[in-house]
Amino acid sequence: MGRNWAIVVGINHYENLRSLNFAKRDASVMATWFQQEAKFNQVFLFTDDSPAIAANSPIPTQPTFGHVRRFLRAQFENIQSPLLKPEDNLWFFFAGHGNRYKDKDYLMFSDSDPGDVENTAISVDYVTQRLRRSGADNVVLFLDACRDESSRAGLGIGEQSYQGVITFYSCTANQKSWEIEELQHGSFTHSLLEGLRLQGEANCATVERLAQYLCYQVPHLNTRYGKPAQNPYLQAEPPYKMYFILLEQTATLRDVEPLKYQASQAENRGDLLLAKQLWVRVLAVSRGDLDAIEAIGRIARRQPFSSELPISTPMPVPSPSGGRSLSSEPDTGSSTPPEPTPKLLFAQRQKFLQWVGLGGVVTIVSGVFLSIFWNYERLQSKSPTPSSPAPSSPVPNLPTLQKALQNCRLSSATGTNPSLPKKGILVMVDPGHGIPPDTGSLGFFREEDVVLPISKKIATILEKNGVQALLTRDKDCTISGGTVRSSLAYRVKMAEQVNADLFVSIHAEVFNKKAHGFEIFTSNNSNSQRLGQLVSSSIVQSINGLFNRGLKAGEHLFILKNVSMPSILVDPGFIDNKEDAALLNNPDFQNKMAEAVAQGIIQYLKEKKQIN
Ligand SMILES: [Zn+2]
Repeated sequence: MGRNWAIVVGINHYENLRSLNFAKRDASVMATWFQQEAKFNQVFLFTDDSPAIAANSPIPTQPTFGHVRRFLRAQFENIQSPLLKPEDNLWFFFAGHGNRYKDKDYLMFSDSDPGDVENTAISVDYVTQRLRRSGADNVVLFLDACRDESSRAGLGIGEQSYQGVITFYSCTANQKSWEIEELQHGSFTHSLLEGLRLQGEANCATVERLAQYLCYQVPHLNTRYGKPAQNPYLQAEPPYKMYFILLEQTATLRDVEPLKYQASQAENRGDLLLAKQLWVRVLAVSRGDLDAIEAIGRIARRQPFSSELPISTPMPVPSPSGGRSLSSEPDTGSSTPPEPTPKLLFAQRQKFLQWVGLGGVVTIVSGVFLSIFWNYERLQSKSPTPSSPAPSSPVPNLPTLQKALQNCRLSSATGTNPSLPKKGILVMVDPGHGIPPDTGSLGFFREEDVVLPISKKIATILEKNGVQALLTRDKDCTISGGTVRSSLAYRVKMAEQVNADLFVSIHAEVFNKKAHGFEIFTSNNSNSQRLGQLVSSSIVQSINGLFNRGLKAGEHLFILKNVSMPSILVDPGFIDNKEDAALLNNPDFQNKMAEAVAQGIIQYLKEKKQIN
């Protein structure tokens, strides 16, 4: 069985920031849980009044910048002889203020100066790099760190990708992490403790299920105690870490199945190092597991000289994650043909989705993360980003556009001429791209091809429910002398012209082949955000296990910025990620997704009393 270490930090007293009430208590209770219930081998506690760590010269633990930084440096600097082994786990818990500076996430310590973040706070980047050097393959971060209520510094911890690290964020960017007087805890930490204590089938022994639990529990807790929304967010990098077992003692045999699958996959790929690490983790829970024993023997025969598990090399943490763009140009220069849809993978994923559906907890909700960073990334993008043209360029006016239209036309769900004028409530459903040169992204297939059937299905379902729905296109079409901007302007103008009540655009994403899950962008107004929330929770409820990347601010997106009605942009998945692509290409999944989006829209219209 692997060893478990934890570093636990909780700060109530801040010299230069508003002090907190329960961060210290959160940390102390977590530390007690690590020591007494989870029987961790080592727990290092840093709070306002924690005792020094016993050593030749005792290590002070008051959570100042200097103390914590020195501890991380001194403990984890020596790569040559790491303290831990790959099968070990290193946990880092932080309750306090967070800050974001120059696109980097920082943890604020008791003496950190918000006016000099770089020199007085510790970046999450630095923490993860040091922790990776411990040698443990499982590095797990819990950051209950967006507690700053002051309006200026109220930046959430953001979306940065930390290689080799599992990170649980307590909330998303434009949210705060709330403390609840009645519970004497932060809402996140309270839920975390509850989740970690669950036993039996409903346990949270795996990363994915703990995330599901938190994402379900925290918003409910906040509602119950009258606090604003707070949506925890999980980041697991590489994504197979989602299936890792956090708590061997509460894991059930069911929990090792996804891990066994990941191990087989790694072995099939020839990644024997990873495969062996994963099989060892399987054995830790499922002692005497024949598959694991055989596999480890098999790997040993293929690698006759490596009887010891090699220490995993700490990976350099990449600089802030690359610019991903909603509408990046397909890399047509690449001659790599799309790989065929992996059938096995898909079947396994389906099976996995069944496993993760535990009674009552079916949600993976995240929320809006770091729109500021996101915008920045998009604006920096070198490739033309159709969704974010320079703000100085006006929308082409309608007559010009109509003259230019060739075969782009509004369509109803069945492809026939739409019955206009509008009768009652009208929803404009917009399949993204498909109007050259506005071509979508290219993954295993073209973005414009996968968003079209989903959009059509949404329109059909809306019509069946008595809501008039129009599509901005029912096939690829052209606008003469067209540009990406005219493609986007066409959609905006059509929505305005028919006086649509809602605008719902469907896209799919391409990023780094690993990113997966769905996300929703909303216009910057409460109706759009509410629409986004309802569609998001409808998807979460009806598609069990689908990873929710959250609700995001989309005011930088041309369409969302320019239409006057409530509007959202739904990205149901990543077409460059094998598993997502297999889902998106599957008619059953398309139906489920369309049904979920349509039901979210209907719920919104009912809530607003626009339909009965
Ligand atoms: Zn797109």
